Amino acid sequence: MIKFKKFFVDTFFPRKLTCNFCGREVFGDVAVCEDCKNSLPYNDGFCCFRCGRKTPIATEACESCSGREWFVDKARSAFNYDKPVSYAIHRFKYDNGRFLGEFFADYLYPLYMKDLPACDCVIPVPISKERMKDRGFNQSELLAKGVSEKTGIPLYSDVVYKSKETERQVGLNARERMINLAGSFSVKNGNKIKGKTALLIDDVLTTGATSNYIAKILKKHGAEEVYLLTIASAGRKERIKTPDGVVGEKEKSVFK
Ligand SMILES: [Zn+2]
Ligand SMILES: [Zn+2]
Repeated sequence: MIKFKKFFVDTFFPRKLTCNFCGREVFGDVAVCEDCKNSLPYNDGFCCFRCGRKTPIATEACESCSGREWFVDKARSAFNYDKPVSYAIHRFKYDNGRFLGEFFADYLYPLYMKDLPACDCVIPVPISKERMKDRGFNQSELLAKGVSEKTGIPLYSDVVYKSKETERQVGLNARERMINLAGSFSVKNGNKIKGKTALLIDDVLTTGATSNYIAKILKKHGAEEVYLLTIASAGRKERIKTPDGVVGEKEKSVFK
């Protein structure tokens, strides 16, 4: 029954003809309706220089970042983690929304061009083998691939890998998170990043602990600078859990 419904939806409501945020019918090439386009939670005001999170005033380091050892040279995210972007990200990851990788990469590309220096390689935040088996794709890799294709910067998917499943991060402070993450990601083919400026790509910035840890090990292996791009960043006080077990907003997909 579900398969039939999916077949019906795919056939009669092809994804290019519906808004990727609200599901409404749209016309033209861009799969965003006018209403969504005008009201998406763009992260286009002030933001933290380090983590890219939206801030009330321009700042070098937001409350989450100040006093914290931070290895990312500069981060940017296209949206705040609010509806309907959070719905669309949920669909992307958990509801067979693979095609949204390219769609979201369209939002990351101009951000890179506008706000970040030229990078030598694009590196996706990896997921574990088990998760890869369940989902069939790594959402960050799809985003990174999209950015790589648009910019011409080579995609390095074989540099960072997830070496061990991470314990739940909920309830841990920044320092505890770094300890929890120790050994969970590793670098191979380290010679590829020696002296390089890396562009790290993740779907959502929540605490930033994972990206920060990866930036740390990339630098340990000789990366000169590490920049970070995410689709969305969650507000500092949001304490939420997704099926991935990371902090994020738990919501039911509107597309289900
Ligand atoms: Zn819409
Ligand atoms: Zn910050």
